[in-house]
Amino acid sequence: MINGADPFDFASLTVAHDEANAFDAVVPPIVQTSLFTFGSYDEMVAAYRGEIVRPIYTRGLNPTVRAFEEMLAKLEGGEDALGFASGMAAISSTVLSFVEPGDRIVAVRHCYPDAYRLFGTHLKRMKVDVTYVDGRDEEAVAKALPGARLLYLESPTSWVMEAHDVGALAALARRHGVVSVIDNSWASPIFQRPLSLGVDLVLHSASKYLGGHSDVVAGVVTGSKELIGRIRSEAYPYLGGKLSPFDAWLLVRGLRTLPIRMKAHEAAALEIAKRLQALDIVETVCHPALANRLPPGLTGTSGLFSFVFREGVDVKTFADRLQLFKLGVSWGGHESLIVPGEVVLQQKAQPNSAHAFGIHARSVRLHIGLEGTEALWRDLEAAMAAATEN
Ligand SMILES: *Cc1c(COP(=O)(O)O)cnc(C)c1O
Repeated sequence: MINGADPFDFASLTVAHDEANAFDAVVPPIVQTSLFTFGSYDEMVAAYRGEIVRPIYTRGLNPTVRAFEEMLAKLEGGEDALGFASGMAAISSTVLSFVEPGDRIVAVRHCYPDAYRLFGTHLKRMKVDVTYVDGRDEEAVAKALPGARLLYLESPTSWVMEAHDVGALAALARRHGVVSVIDNSWASPIFQRPLSLGVDLVLHSASKYLGGHSDVVAGVVTGSKELIGRIRSEAYPYLGGKLSPFDAWLLVRGLRTLPIRMKAHEAAALEIAKRLQALDIVETVCHPALANRLPPGLTGTSGLFSFVFREGVDVKTFADRLQLFKLGVSWGGHESLIVPGEVVLQQKAQPNSAHAFGIHARSVRLHIGLEGTEALWRDLEAAMAAATEN
């Protein structure tokens, strides 16, 4: 039944009865331990031989982490999942499990900046090349795929929210024998289930919507038993970016409200994006639902989008004047946030390039939280009034 789970069906978010949960606690316990002991020599041998599956050491398997992995696999329709200490740990361990020196990756342009930097530093040193393509241009993707090892997708993309026909891109990868992976942090499984569209692996920064409360940094990857097994046996144990039991427990808590949170983020963000688009002082709003029809497979939109002010608007005054929107990176929590593009363009991290991320100097990225549309709009209006006063 795992593959058929409906992401809006809260029953898919309940934790199954577990013999080890002595009190049948509705919230599963945090198994905060580094190691697990054995009753006998024979039991230990059986575990080492893989004849019985049971926790040995928390870097390998931990029951609280497993509860989160199973919930997430169910939501995405995966056979298995693997939790990580961060989204970047999920990205690096996944990519490193599939490439060797001399290999090539095809990646969509404007992907998450630190993924871009991973490709431009460690992978470059490993002699792995990356070809960047516009994910909306399927011809360009098809041309780049022959001979590639991995197709790295992110849709919508991180700042300009370019949305792709994920199913079409996955089909192209399959035709060329290329493993496809997508960063699905923005849409979450509530609005996009890439495995059902033919993508091989789906990963998340669980620090964003999956956690949803801005109190955990974590990552996860899900897909077939075979592909997850490869990551589990290669990069995961030796790079060691494991998810902690307490963070997994916070994620289990976060997932329970994911469907209603996503609907609330969607409604408020769409309303605010439309109101911004109607203003003279706004040049463009980068929100997938405003740009075009949503591509097939993307069934809703989340709370993160960006827009570009026309010349003459004082973005610094705008940012400083906001009260509900806080200046801050990340997104996906209950709180509304703003990141001015001009600030990101000054970041010291290397490699860095405005072109690579599509960030316009007069742009602003907003995360629309759960404070309520009208209160957030009043905040934006007051800040825009201050930013256009001469
Ligand atoms: C934040 C983010 C990441 C990285 O996740 P961390 O948990 O911060 O390591 C990856 N992809 C996207 C789209 C993100 O927004």
